[in-house]
Amino acid sequence: MRVSIAGAGLGGLALAQGLRGAGIEADVYERDPAITARFQGYRLVLNQAGFEAVRGCLPPRWHPLLDAIVGDAYGERLILDPRLNTIGELGPGRTGTVVDRHVLRHLLLTGLTVRTGAALTGYEVLADGKVDARFSHGEPVTADLLVGADGVASAVRATLSPRTVPTDTGVRFVIGRTTLTERFAGLSKAFGSKIAGDGVSLLLGAMRFRTPPKEAAEELAPEVSLPDVRDYVRWAMILPSDGSLGASSPQEAALSRMDGWHPDLRALIEQSDPDNSTLLSIRVVEPRERWAPGPVTLLGDAVHATSPTGGNGANTALRDADLLRRSLIEAAEGRRNLLDAVGDYERQMFAYGAEAVRHSLDALPAYVPKS
Ligand SMILES: Cc1cc2nc3c(=O)[nH]c(=O)nc-3n(C[C@H](O)[C@H](O)[C@H](O)COP(=O)(O)OP(=O)(O)OC[C@H]3O[C@@H](n4cnc5c(N)ncnc54)[C@H](O)[C@@H]3O)c2cc1C
Repeated sequence: MRVSIAGAGLGGLALAQGLRGAGIEADVYERDPAITARFQGYRLVLNQAGFEAVRGCLPPRWHPLLDAIVGDAYGERLILDPRLNTIGELGPGRTGTVVDRHVLRHLLLTGLTVRTGAALTGYEVLADGKVDARFSHGEPVTADLLVGADGVASAVRATLSPRTVPTDTGVRFVIGRTTLTERFAGLSKAFGSKIAGDGVSLLLGAMRFRTPPKEAAEELAPEVSLPDVRDYVRWAMILPSDGSLGASSPQEAALSRMDGWHPDLRALIEQSDPDNSTLLSIRVVEPRERWAPGPVTLLGDAVHATSPTGGNGANTALRDADLLRRSLIEAAEGRRNLLDAVGDYERQMFAYGAEAVRHSLDALPAYVPKS
């Protein structure tokens, strides 16, 4: 069996690792010109199911490394004013495992064949039931299954399910990260809390690696090369819904809305890493229209993109990867046919994917500043 995967995000790479571990040929095609071509380094909280899913896709010999490069989710879940006085509570929080997306992606990339600069533009189902994937450059590639793991603006989805389109929630936020110094460790009350300013909300989260990733890889799995990332604070400011940054950089956009804020909060933004700061918009994709199982399917944000306030997009993408991996292994071993395996995956994925999107949208209003 040969599987083509469009998209080298968390879901596509986890699936490729899981298939490779089972001896199934899986090639990944990524639109970006290079793996590190743009901002990717934010922190994610994985719940137990998401963490078990990524573990299941990785070879067991890398499990000690995975355990070493994560951290524990920690959050006070308070509502604070800009001087850090407590003014309320956010309600029950999330516990789980904190990972850096960039670091996890590097682990997932190890040993895979990934063609970068390969934007999928379309596909054609062939008479023999296989599928040809077409790319902006180069020849089409034939496979038994094409998996669209190509994110919220999925090109695979545009053909497979053209009526499933992203919805823009209108919410914009700037996000960045700052090295975790002793001064910023003192902001622990704000980690996992919401700082409610005038028309904006600031959210902070700490990424504390149990072992620095590069050192952990050198010690535990020398064949893996991980980036040299140190502990940091991830900050995200949700903006008023006028749609514009109103400043030349994400930091300036945040600082321009922080007059009179606690000096440690201002310093946190001032000292952030400009290469890891960006403006993002929150778009969701709700899985609605089922299609007849065939040699093309979808996974992750391509079929159920959530609002980051739900904290479940990566968890759900990884759950997809693990579920599809297990279904495809059964097909490769002759225990069921390929279309039944894909159909069974899609039936389960549609149910929990739709629930994940609903949950994330329910969680959004608590973070959006009142205008
Ligand atoms: C700030 C932020 C915080 C978040 N926090 C959390 C959290 O705490 N917990 C959680 O569970 N989730 C979180 N999420 C959500 C999570 O990051 C995503 O849901 C997850 O990365 C989706 O994985 P994916 O593989 O489906 O898609 P992506 O990671 O988006 O990957 C898609 C890939 O496909 C590539 N691509 C796109 N088009 C094409 C094409 N035509 N051809 C080839 N390649 C293509 C893209 O370049 C990209 O590399 C957060 C998201 C953000 C933005």
